[in-house]
Amino acid sequence: MFEKILIANRGEIALRIQRACREMGIKTVVVHSEADREAKYVKLADESVCIGPAPSNLSYLSMPAIISAAEVTDAQAIHPGYGFLSENADFAERVEQSGFVFIGPRAESIRMMGDKVSAKHAMIEAGVPCVPGSDGALPDDPKVIVQTARKVGYPVIIKAAGGGGGRGMRVVHTEAALLNAVTMTKTEAGAAFGNPEVYMEKFLENPRHVEIQILADQHGNAVWLGERDCSMQRRHQKVIEEAPAPGIPRELIATVGERCAAACRKIGYRGAGTFEFLYENGEFYFIEMNTRVQVEHPVTEMITGIDIVQEQIRIAFNEKLRFTQDQVQFRGHAIECRINAEDPFKFIPSPGRITSWHTPGGPGIRVDSHAYAGYFVPPNYDSMIGKVIAYGETRDQAIRRMQIALSEMVVEGIQTNIPLHRELMIDARFIEGGTNIHYLEHKLAGMPVLDKKVK
Ligand code: ADP
Repeated sequence: MFEKILIANRGEIALRIQRACREMGIKTVVVHSEADREAKYVKLADESVCIGPAPSNLSYLSMPAIISAAEVTDAQAIHPGYGFLSENADFAERVEQSGFVFIGPRAESIRMMGDKVSAKHAMIEAGVPCVPGSDGALPDDPKVIVQTARKVGYPVIIKAAGGGGGRGMRVVHTEAALLNAVTMTKTEAGAAFGNPEVYMEKFLENPRHVEIQILADQHGNAVWLGERDCSMQRRHQKVIEEAPAPGIPRELIATVGERCAAACRKIGYRGAGTFEFLYENGEFYFIEMNTRVQVEHPVTEMITGIDIVQEQIRIAFNEKLRFTQDQVQFRGHAIECRINAEDPFKFIPSPGRITSWHTPGGPGIRVDSHAYAGYFVPPNYDSMIGKVIAYGETRDQAIRRMQIALSEMVVEGIQTNIPLHRELMIDARFIEGGTNIHYLEHKLAGMPVLDKKVK
């Protein structure tokens, strides 16, 4: 096994990866910016290297700084976590060219999945169900664009091939608005992603977001670890995730999961990955693949007992998967609430010093967070400061445990979205299960009264 791994990330996922390494007897090097110098996980690491000032582009996104840190500390492999450089094919390539192992897929898989047109093409070839739309990128010919939209049927959505993070998309309801929308999306995509290519999909009006976790080794084995329902979103940002997805037939999940695993074998994918789907009227539609560990991976770990981060490390070390699909057992239900440092109903970031921090516990409760009393939440990064995960034998038990956990949790000195999570855990529609991706925004729009509860 590796003796030393460099963690090229920060916050809760840096701590999560560190814990996996420590359990496996692997030494860790944590790189950090000046803003994260005092973080406890930095001090817990065997070694730490300051790679630059607070702004991400000068630290967590600086490839030369990270690779130099690996060189001076003699690390053998680099774990990129999520966000930052985790889905940057050039980084994966430079890491390997510098003689280190990139804990993730090969650069060419990252590149293929980073371009949504080529990703969709690969999925269609592999038999993964996709949203109907243009066959590849839209051509310039206006006649063809209009014909394509007629064939697909309105409303349609125009999406940038290089898009990400919910940006570079435009919904079109009428033919009159079509060509202008295509031109605008192309211009924006060219400026934002350096790639003006766009494609068209049928716009699904009330889908759920359901994703499949996979693991694939470098010996041609791939398994799927069930699904996660991440429909509780605001502005395309996931707020709550759960596994399994309520009310979806298990045979359907198994069929789609098997296709995803088959696609991984076909393209020679290695590592952990997530196939994201929209789910509507009993059908799955692939939208994109994430070639890294996800924020919400713990809910899958809770119901399968598989440590996804440790498996990523074993796969990168070229080990064979230790289990077959038949040996993957699903048990119980898990829910994750993302805890953000922000005003819970106005969604304005709330960085600053945490004066009081009490995390919940008890059977089935897991808290993944790097925060503590006295920790300063820097204003420079994502506002997520941790995750509370509740496991139960049934979904009802998981919800009940989450309600109790959230009632116990105390964070003072900054604002957090815990009050919003408390509301959602007693929301009748959430408790029923199966809400769509618009539910949270609709609920928030109809509840100005919630503002008052914050004070
Ligand atoms: P990104 O990489 O920017 O996250 P995705 O392709 O995953 O882009 O899409 C982000 C979100 O946009 C989806 O979760 C969904 O809410 C919405 N979306 C994307 N494609 C469609 C579609 N065909 N119909 C309806 N909504 C869509």
